[in-house]
Amino acid sequence: MNAMTDNEPAFQLSPDVQAICETARRIVRDELLPLEPQYLASDKHAYGIKETVNLKAVFGKEVVDRLTKISKDTGHWGLMVHEEYGGAGLSMLAQCAILEEFNYTPVPFPFASVPNILYACKGDQVDRYLRPVMEGDKTTSFAQTEPNAGSDPGGMMQTRAVRDGNEWVINGTKMWISMAAESDIIMVQAVTDPDKRQRGGITMFLVDRNNPGVSIDTKGIPTWLGPKPSQYIVNFNDCRVPEDAVLGEVGSGFSLGQKWLTIHDRLLRGPYALGKMQRALDMSVEWSKQRVTFGKPISTRQAIQWKLADIYIDIEALRALTYTIAARADAGEDVRTEAALVKLVSTEWGARCLDHAIQIHGAMGEALELPLTLFYRYLRHAQIGGGTSEIQRMLIARKLLAD
Ligand SMILES: Cc1cc2nc3c(=O)[nH]c(=O)nc-3n(C[C@H](O)[C@H](O)[C@H](O)COP(=O)(O)OP(=O)(O)OC[C@H]3O[C@@H](n4cnc5c(N)ncnc54)[C@H](O)[C@@H]3O)c2cc1C
Repeated sequence: MNAMTDNEPAFQLSPDVQAICETARRIVRDELLPLEPQYLASDKHAYGIKETVNLKAVFGKEVVDRLTKISKDTGHWGLMVHEEYGGAGLSMLAQCAILEEFNYTPVPFPFASVPNILYACKGDQVDRYLRPVMEGDKTTSFAQTEPNAGSDPGGMMQTRAVRDGNEWVINGTKMWISMAAESDIIMVQAVTDPDKRQRGGITMFLVDRNNPGVSIDTKGIPTWLGPKPSQYIVNFNDCRVPEDAVLGEVGSGFSLGQKWLTIHDRLLRGPYALGKMQRALDMSVEWSKQRVTFGKPISTRQAIQWKLADIYIDIEALRALTYTIAARADAGEDVRTEAALVKLVSTEWGARCLDHAIQIHGAMGEALELPLTLFYRYLRHAQIGGGTSEIQRMLIARKLLAD
């Protein structure tokens, strides 16, 4: 879909994708923004949680059903679903452009959020796990982090899985797992060969949340990210799963985790930030033109103009970077390091743009009826979740210094 020649930018949205983006923009304006005041005032929304679960908690089933129908009718539902399964089969570039639109508001829009690694399902796993997720009947969570294993999961992971006949027995504790209590399938990493660890000794298992060996402290861990906690401690106590609970191959779990992180927690952080930054800019331009001090709108003051200009510069630079890396991923390039770059700058630049926008709004910037502080908290959080800024810099430096 990217007509690339020497004279054209590395990324080019096709007319089809532009049309999907325009529809997305209209849905955001007509359907989601009117729901925003109720969403922000609710004490039920949560961070990092599947769109339909979040929407249902805040607005109830009727709104979920209506938005799901719109999503299916307009072709957004299958944006992450591969063509062979009846989905849109969209490129990463197209997904980035569309997700940017939906991140203009914190009100979530339902679509089939299919983890890229779930396409490693084989045989019966396809009907048991992949299809129900594509159809929206089941949801997943990703369990890598442990109380003593965050930045260095390969070296520090303690959760073990041991073979017993034709079963695996998992023991250990995972922590900070987003949506664990609300998901149906926990994609959990466990050490299966302590000598090899991240080099072939970690395996990914698909565990039903209702497995009697899984216990979750459903109170969750309260954070500043939302009124309802949505990160959990998950204990695996002699949790028995069949052999075919292994996703991919035995020993491939660490690289599957990296594959998931590269797309869902790094590259897609670009559009997640861009939508919020664009909203912050639009709100700031409008506010600054109508807010009068000392006889003139604050938009006439250079101190405010420079903040607006700085937000705009960050948006343009981040969009160019994100779309370029997405197009390179579509061209088959290994973009693990470049995705780390997108995560790093989208979260750091995103937070500084929201900081400017809050400042431009004065006291109103701190009012919870506006989405600005929520956006700020999401972007500031993302400098930690999914791999900290320090770890992203470490990955980039590692590539620079490699022989
Ligand atoms: C809201 C939220 C949602 C989350 N969701 C999930 C989830 O769904 N699934 C999941 O598996 N995990 C999840 N996490 C966990 C998250 O990915 C980890 O918290 C993150 O990777 C950091 O690990 P840590 O907290 O153990 O920090 P630590 O590893 O203890 O690091 C502490 C500090 O030291 C720095 N540091 C560490 N090593 C180095 C180094 N070598 N050089 C320089 N600095 C270093 C870090 O950057 C950080 O600043 C979530 C976390 C939060 C807060």
